[in-house]
Amino acid sequence: MKNSHLHGTSLTAKLLDESPVKVDNPIKIGDLTFRDGHQSLFATRGRTEDLLPIAEEMEKVGYWCMEVWGGATFDTMHRFLNEDPWERPRQLKKYLKKTKLMMLLRGQNLVGYRNYADDMATAFVERAIANGIEIFRTFDALNDFRNFETVIKPIKKSGMHFQGTISYSLTEPRMGGAVYNLDYWVKCAKQLEDMGSDSFCIKDMAGLIAPYDAYYLVKALKENVKIPIHLHSHFTSGMADLALLKAIEAGVDIVDTCLSPWAFRSSHPAIEPLVMALRHTNRDTGFDLHQLAKCSEWFEKISPKYRYLLDDRMSIIDIGVLLHQTPGGMLSNLINQLREMGASDRLNDVFRALPEVRKDMGQVPLVTPTSQIVGIQAVNNVLFDTPEERYKMISAQTKDLFFGLYGHTPVPVNPEVQKKALKGYPRGEAPFAGRPAEILEPEMPKNYEDTKGLAKDIDDVLIYGMYPMTGKRFLNWKYGKEPVPPEVLPKTLEDCAREAELVKKAKAGLLVEKPKKEVPPKGAESRQFKVFVDGDYFSVDVEAVGGAPLITGITPVAAPVAKAAPAIAPKPAPAPAPAAPPRPSAAPVAGGTKLEAPMPGMVIRYAVNEGDTVKEGDVVMILEAMKMENSILAPVSGTVKQILCQSAQSVQKGDVLAIIG
Ligand code: MN
Repeated sequence: MKNSHLHGTSLTAKLLDESPVKVDNPIKIGDLTFRDGHQSLFATRGRTEDLLPIAEEMEKVGYWCMEVWGGATFDTMHRFLNEDPWERPRQLKKYLKKTKLMMLLRGQNLVGYRNYADDMATAFVERAIANGIEIFRTFDALNDFRNFETVIKPIKKSGMHFQGTISYSLTEPRMGGAVYNLDYWVKCAKQLEDMGSDSFCIKDMAGLIAPYDAYYLVKALKENVKIPIHLHSHFTSGMADLALLKAIEAGVDIVDTCLSPWAFRSSHPAIEPLVMALRHTNRDTGFDLHQLAKCSEWFEKISPKYRYLLDDRMSIIDIGVLLHQTPGGMLSNLINQLREMGASDRLNDVFRALPEVRKDMGQVPLVTPTSQIVGIQAVNNVLFDTPEERYKMISAQTKDLFFGLYGHTPVPVNPEVQKKALKGYPRGEAPFAGRPAEILEPEMPKNYEDTKGLAKDIDDVLIYGMYPMTGKRFLNWKYGKEPVPPEVLPKTLEDCAREAELVKKAKAGLLVEKPKKEVPPKGAESRQFKVFVDGDYFSVDVEAVGGAPLITGITPVAAPVAKAAPAIAPKPAPAPAPAAPPRPSAAPVAGGTKLEAPMPGMVIRYAVNEGDTVKEGDVVMILEAMKMENSILAPVSGTVKQILCQSAQSVQKGDVLAIIG
């Protein structure tokens, strides 16, 4: 720099030549590549076999922690990957001996989508610790920390790290307003510090946090709590890199990043540019860029396996978040739902309804599962409300929320809507104010009972307890009691190259759609691939490695919700192309009033039998749509003359569910 004309004047020259800055407060880094990275980009489909080979090199980087488990991993591993979820941390710990392994824990929801009983929550956390998890990033969708009480105990008892986490939320485009202001967040942090939090995490799951809001928030937190502050944001809106930098200036202790191949889009800022940005500052990471490059190279190499799951829009940011604070995952859910109901033109009405519905529900943060509950209720209101009556179709989950089954909402709910929602509610019409899990019966005895002769240990029992249907199916695969379907088997890079070739051909119109053969030719080991072609999702059967691609069939299958999921985190992606149960086939008897499905969905159960007498407004059956359960009411009083569907059956809008006469 001696001969530079900038010598002695530029900041760079000063940093390099004159007074090297003392690194007195290096920023610590949490790496998310092994969990949130692929959850955000590839619907959590990352396989253990693609993580293990690079783990030892990741260890050399010097991360404060690596998030490797929790969130949606438990669900997708046993459901889509035929992997024992417990095996991953156990294997990784062999290579990541010094690096602390972190999991994302949904408080009393554990790694599922409902509150589990205390006995199960305790057992789950104990087993997570036994299998190698050391840091528990624990959050609740409502920021009701009573939902942490049970899981904290085993974490603290075993000396593990409890990271109290808030679900960052806004009611205005920027931080502030009556609900989510600095006072609210500082109050949360103090509360969590008092509960024994070892650190505090701002979990900005939708990429909403603006850089200067991050700055003032971190400043306020540093002034008011002693525990380290950790910032987790998503790149979704494009602000996260800026937000991280401003938070670092404000003194944040730890930030989350991914290796560059699995960074950006709805994932996270990349680590490499951050390392360079902080070099020669007092917050220098001290990381070796060459070591990072070595790790990134590995992910670049294996990424073709996952590319088909990547959103391929030109824009890598989602300005929807900036425009209306609706993250991509939630938005595509709403669009999907509207399309299925034949009401795609109502999206703007839904945008108008959303803030109202959210306000009625106590301004809950929008994260799984509240984002779905609020979003689908808004859709229901737009489609079914009349000028005389609001909240005509209230989902069971909305009712649960109004009852208090998820916990306290950040501000009180609308009492009128609450009263309506709780009319005839099975647990009682008066809302419940206690800790949600208080009213749940122990679950473990039944889990043991149900898995007798199948489960070999408590980890198996917990897989079942968490996800009874798919959990049991996985245990059957694991112990050879059911054949493992080809679509859950790992694919090699060669498989993927072949698949990419097929996609190319399909796009060029060179593949002719044929009816799928019922039985594959004997001896030919066929493999099934799921491929996207121009937004449509196809299932393609090809012959095993070694032979020329033998296309036995291309069958359009239901578009996976998974592709759009990432931005707001975990959503249980649907099972791969299950055989659809038959549509109603019985012919409705003549006469009487038809009860038609008001929306497409799946029949959960009927509340009545043929021959029963019903009054207008009585619940006839429960229909699930977009994971929300809706009570379908009798349109008239009379006798149930005919029931036309059965449990687990899929129905379209307008299908006749029952005849009442
Ligand atoms: Mn996240």
